[in-house]
Parts: sequence; structure tokens; C-alpha cells
Amino acid sequence: MGSQFAAPSGWKQLDVAVIGGGIGGLSTAIALRRSGHKVTIYERADFAGEKGASVSCAANGTRWLEEWGVDVQKGDPVHLKKLISRDWYTGEPYSVYDLEDYHVRWGYVYWMFHRQYMHAMLKDTALQEEGEGIPAKMIVNHKCKDIDLEKGTVEFDNGVTVTHDLIVGADGIGSAVRGIVGIHPEKRPAPSSCLHANVMTEDAVRLGLTDYSADNALEYWGGQEGKFDKIVLSPCNGGKLLSYYCFFPREKGDYTSQAWGAEDLPVEDLLAPYPELDKRVRDHLAIGIEVQPWRLWVHDPYPFMNKKRVAILGDAAHPMMPHQSQGACMAIEDAAALGIVFSKKYFNGDVEAALQVYSDVRLPRASKVQAAAAKAAYNINERIGFSSNTDVEGYNVEDESAKLTIEEMNGYDMYRDVEEKIAKRDGAQVNPKFITGLPVGLKLSNGVTIGQ
Ligand SMILES: Cc1cc2nc3c(=O)[nH]c(=O)nc-3n(C[C@H](O)[C@H](O)[C@H](O)COP(=O)(O)OP(=O)(O)OC[C@H]3O[C@@H](n4cnc5c(N)ncnc54)[C@H](O)[C@@H]3O)c2cc1C
Repeated sequence: MGSQFAAPSGWKQLDVAVIGGGIGGLSTAIALRRSGHKVTIYERADFAGEKGASVSCAANGTRWLEEWGVDVQKGDPVHLKKLISRDWYTGEPYSVYDLEDYHVRWGYVYWMFHRQYMHAMLKDTALQEEGEGIPAKMIVNHKCKDIDLEKGTVEFDNGVTVTHDLIVGADGIGSAVRGIVGIHPEKRPAPSSCLHANVMTEDAVRLGLTDYSADNALEYWGGQEGKFDKIVLSPCNGGKLLSYYCFFPREKGDYTSQAWGAEDLPVEDLLAPYPELDKRVRDHLAIGIEVQPWRLWVHDPYPFMNKKRVAILGDAAHPMMPHQSQGACMAIEDAAALGIVFSKKYFNGDVEAALQVYSDVRLPRASKVQAAAAKAAYNINERIGFSSNTDVEGYNVEDESAKLTIEEMNGYDMYRDVEEKIAKRDGAQVNPKFITGLPVGLKLSNGVTIGQ
């Protein structure tokens, strides 16, 4: 969909510092490299490798990977064909969202990656010679301590200081940059806890257990009737690995102060909260390896995402519960928004003004997903995809007209949203065919039609 937007004059190449080399930081480096800028990533760890397990990438994230020319196959992904919500006790499907027509409908695939592979895939694209733009640089062992917001000078805890035109805080949920720009969140422990385990498909099949990899599906047990007990199964590494996220009420086990990466927990800890769980999946958990706690903290939306020449993004800007599987996609969308506002088509040379557009575009959308992720913690019907299955027996959501829908996630056009925000800022005419990036006439599965 084209636009009549007139490109401003004044574009200039920026020397950008990205603080943090995770999924958001690497995506930012790719997006800004593609827009013609020079990027240096400063990572606190000695090697910016990733811990953890599966990360899904829905169409709203995949579209940017494709636009940036990321070689997705390097991530050894699983092409998801279904979302399946199952009964806690019997394992019978309760709500199924078919993704067979997903690519035709939205133009992009729903992928499931393993985090390490996804991270390596993004890192290669950001740093390699091949591809459009100047290859980004990554400097490890640099932990950001302070930033002079006026001058753009970053101070690291090893005593090094650097000065850049633009600084992007992509330093994750415990962000230092967030505090430096003046946001001091009041976080609280989530009402549920999460343990993660991996199951090798080969081991499960050898023991005669169900081969869930054959479903090519993101599968859920429970999470219905206001209960926090929920198992989420994500097949990754081409189906060879099954990644299990296991949620239960915090009263049954509190892991809020335990970090991922310590010694593996015994499998008994994983099984203890679930005596009545469908035996087929419980047998899988019984052969689970690398049992690790995933700390869950609730953060309410923050008031802004920019100050002076500094922006925050990803988990630093809007940490969210995992129940919409959108944390990584939101970080990728943030990166895409930075790529757009600093592109030749939209950047007029004023860094602070461009960052204001970035925040105006990203804050409402990410905050809506953040709120919807908290609701989906105890009601699977609120989860994108299942929220369209309104004819399922027992279907209910807190507020039908406000629920998050697949149409607004995937039918969104960020370029049009950026143009709308710039037009509003400049008092110019707004494209009448879009409202906050959603095409007028788009029917959402909550009964709302955009523009009516
Ligand atoms: C175990 C686990 C499983 C997940 N599963 C999913 C999923 O299935 N789907 C999904 O969409 N999301 C998932 N998420 C969430 C998703 O991974 C995050 O939302 C996403 O990684 C956010 O990216 P980020 O770049 O903002 O933060 P991160 O990926 O956390 O990266 C932050 C980086 O900044 C570095 N850093 C921190 N402080 C500093 C500093 N002061 N100076 C320099 N560097 C610093 C860190 O070392 C790290 O490399 C999962 C998260 C976890 C932990």
C-alpha cells in the first residue's frame, strides 16, 4: 500500500550506540544499518550468547525479519500450523486455531525458533559484511553505568566513555538505561511461577510417548477457568526439541528470586504441582532436562520510551508476561519503528523529534499487548488466535470489544502509523485510509470495524 508522503530534507547518517546485544538490540542494529546508519552494540556479557529455549515469531515479527533480509533458515525454525488449547485432565483439544491459511492471510509465516539459534541468526545479519548498510560492530564486556542525556556520552563500568548521536537502551528487563532516563518501575511478583524444561523428541519417541512434534503446533494445557496452571509446549530446532513452559500458582512454588542459569532443578519440582495433569504430557515432563526457573514480574506500562537523544526498547521499555508470546515480536517491532523513523523517507535530521514519533507509535501498541499478556495468564481465551474462537464452549473474555485480536496484530501497517504521527505533529493532512496503522474497514474478531 503506497503513500503520498513527501520525504523531508535533512537526513544525515548517525553514529548510534545500542546498549545490549539481545534480540531487541541486534534487531535495532539491523534496522538502523538498513536505514544507512553506523551502529555499535555494547554488551555487558563477555559473549552475547543467549540462554533459554523457544521464542515464537508471529507474522508481525516475521515481516521485519523478511524486510531486513534475515536468513530465517539459519534459525532452524519450526513452521507452526496450529495453536491447540487442550483440556488439563484429558488432553482433549478445547480450542484449536488453525494456521493453515495464516501465510495466505497475513503474508508471513508463524515461526518457532530456539533462542540461541534466533540470536545467532540476528547477530550474523547485524555484523556480517554481506547485506545492505554498514556492518554493525559489537563490543563485549561493556556494562552501561550512566549516560549524559544532553551530550550523548555513555559511561561503562570498566571506565570507558563513548559519545554517540543516538543511544538505544536495549538492555532487557533489568535495564540500566531505563533508570537513567527517569523511569523507576514499581514491579511486583506475578501471581504465577514458571519452570522451563526441554524434552528431546527422540527420547520421547524411544520411550513410546506421544510424538508432539508431529503436530507442528504451539500447544497448551489448562490456563482456563481463571486458573494459573498451564503447560505451554513449543517445538523447536526443526521439531527435534520440545520446549515446555510450565506455569502454576506462586503458592505452589516461589521462584521470583531465582535466576535462569543456576544449577538445574530436579524434575520432581516440575512434576509436583501437577498430580492431575493429562498423563501423556506429564510423562513428557518426567523425562524433562535442564529444568530452570523463569522469574515472572509484573510491570505496569511506563509513561514514555524516549528522552533527549536516548530511546528504550524491548523488555527495557515494556516487559510483559509471556502469555501472548509477543515479547520478542514487540522488541522486533520497536527496532523496525526506529529503522523507519530514521530512514531517508522520514528522518529530517532532528533526533529528538524522530524519537518522539517512535514513542508515539510504539507505546500504545506495546502497552495493549502488555495488558493482554497479563490477562491471558489465567484465561487462554484472551490469547491472540484463541481470542477469535468465540464459538468454543465456555469461551469468555474480560471485555469483548477491548480484547487483543489477530487482525490488529497482523493487519497493522507501521509505515502508515509513522506517517500519521508525523502528520499530526506537523499539522498536515492525515491519510484517511488508516487509523493508527490499521486499514479503515478492517474487521476485528471482537466485532469492531476500524473507522466505524
Ligand atoms: C526463558 C525465556 C523464554 C522466552 N520465551 C519467549 C517466547 O517464546 N516468545 C516471545 O516472544 N518472547 C519470549 N521471551 C521474551 C523475549 O525473549 C524477550 O521479550 C526478548 O528477548 C526481549 O529482548 P530484549 O533485547 O529487550 O532483552 P534481552 O533479550 O534480555 O537482551 C538484553 C541484553 O542486554 C544486555 N545488558 C543488560 N544490561 C546491560 C547493561 N547495563 N549494559 C550493557 N548490556 C546490558 C544483556 O546481557 C542482554 O544481552 C522469553 C524470555 C525468556 C527469559
